[in-house]
Amino acid sequence: MLFSPITYDEPVFRPPSEAYSLIIQLTIGCSWNKCAFCEMYTSKKFRIRPINEIFAEIDKTAEIYPDVKKVFLADGNAMVLSTAKLLKVIEYLNKKFPRLTRISAYAIPKDLENKTVLELKQLLEVGLKLIYVGIETGDDELLQMINKGETSLSTIKSMQKVRESGIKSSVMIINGLGGRQYSQQHAENSAKVVNAIQPEFLSTLVLSFPFGMEHFKSRFHGEFFPLNILGLLKEQKRFLLIAQLHETVFRSDHASNYLVLKGMLGRDKERMLNEIDKAISHPDHANLREEWQRGL
Ligand code: SF4
Repeated sequence: MLFSPITYDEPVFRPPSEAYSLIIQLTIGCSWNKCAFCEMYTSKKFRIRPINEIFAEIDKTAEIYPDVKKVFLADGNAMVLSTAKLLKVIEYLNKKFPRLTRISAYAIPKDLENKTVLELKQLLEVGLKLIYVGIETGDDELLQMINKGETSLSTIKSMQKVRESGIKSSVMIINGLGGRQYSQQHAENSAKVVNAIQPEFLSTLVLSFPFGMEHFKSRFHGEFFPLNILGLLKEQKRFLLIAQLHETVFRSDHASNYLVLKGMLGRDKERMLNEIDKAISHPDHANLREEWQRGL
């Protein structure tokens, strides 16, 4: 979209795969906003936007771009809205954009706790086809240390409801989240959680420190010793070894990743494990980003 008639409440984030989607902010910020590693919405005070403001933005955009095909509902967890309000907005989007094919949103597992499978099916029927969920880790100890406000069980329960409804999910795990000390349990328990969920899409990205490592450590409820690149690769390997996914598109191609992996799990699991092994033993020959060459 070259020109947008919407004045966004910045900063606005969206998944890479929503680069060409119209972004509509249903909420500002994240209703949780406490995760130790996340600075996305710390500058914003969470609020739900009035429906008339949202409708006015949809109207303005539809006048200029009536052929919009994809819409991403922002900010951090638009799924926190009641099903009734989500239905109202999505139905309005359908009315104004007759060629709409997909609506998606970020969600956190607690947003889905009180939504029934039937409600999720209703949302799917009107066009909510995909939700993005940062699981971060499946390890309960680490979930507490990063102050995620979830457990492995709350995550599994919510995500299984999503799967049952037919809405697709794209989930994310953070490589290196527990540093050296928690690497093994992070890898193993994260794999167990994704096994229980069987998401359609899974990605891993590497923990980064936008405000510096000391800032992260001050928010992390435990000891943190960062993994080096070799440690990150070994953690990734352990995770993939235990992951038993039947039909999941896997990506580790976010800018933070050192080794780019892409494939379908389980079909391409052996190939990807080989790529990790190759990177571990011959870093100069592997498909590693420049940082590897410079960093070790
Ligand atoms: S729930 Fe998501 S958006 Fe909110 S603070 Fe945690 S990681 Fe950030």
